[in-house]
Amino acid sequence: MKKKAKEVRQEAVEVICPKCRETNIVYFPKESMPTCPYCKVEMIIKEVLTEGKYG
Ligand SMILES: [Zn+2]
Repeated sequence: MKKKAKEVRQEAVEVICPKCRETNIVYFPKESMPTCPYCKVEMIIKEVLTEGKYG
């Protein structure tokens, strides 16, 4: 039996600091873009990890 996804699908996203290359995993859209704890700059998306894993 197939289940229709009514809930907002969460995407695990690997983010990286553009300055020191520190990486982190966050879940969108539940979490917002994190800030690097060392540089205090907003991290950027490096890779979306959940593509095609749910469904
Ligand atoms: Zn940093």
